Amino acid sequence: MAHPLKHAQSSARKFGGKAEDYLPIHNWFDESKAFLADFRHRALRHHAEGIFLAEKLFGMAIVNSDGNQVPVRYVGEQHVKEDLGRIPTAQDWLLQIRPQRWMYGHYSESGIVTTMPSTSLCRANEDSCRSRRETASEDQGPKASVQNKNHSSSA
Ligand SMILES: [Zn+2]
Repeated sequence: MAHPLKHAQSSARKFGGKAEDYLPIHNWFDESKAFLADFRHRALRHHAEGIFLAEKLFGMAIVNSDGNQVPVRYVGEQHVKEDLGRIPTAQDWLLQIRPQRWMYGHYSESGIVTTMPSTSLCRANEDSCRSRRETASEDQGPKASVQNKNHSSSA
């Protein structure tokens, strides 16, 4: 199952009414395909938290064209199960991310997140790069900042 229309037709068979009644919900789940055009787009909304977010956006229930209330959560569960065979959590997806240095950010002693000098910038302007490196080396890095923060809060 892939296209939102197929999911919507499936919803109509399962909950009654017409496919159009359910199309906005299924479109919302698959909108993330605009950001990444392969199955990995599902990491953004195809999980338990995504289903609860859909409920916040579309309300507790929709009224289908038969005049019956259908819980949005049930429609979301149907979509995710049809795509993945089960309902994963956001954690199931996030743990698959391979950590990159930039994801850690950079913490100064004040706890403010600053950006690290990028290698490409350093090649372009060596003087500015040197001063950035000196500034960066004065900082203690993410672990030390966290420890300092904890220490100062307990004092
Ligand atoms: Zn989908």
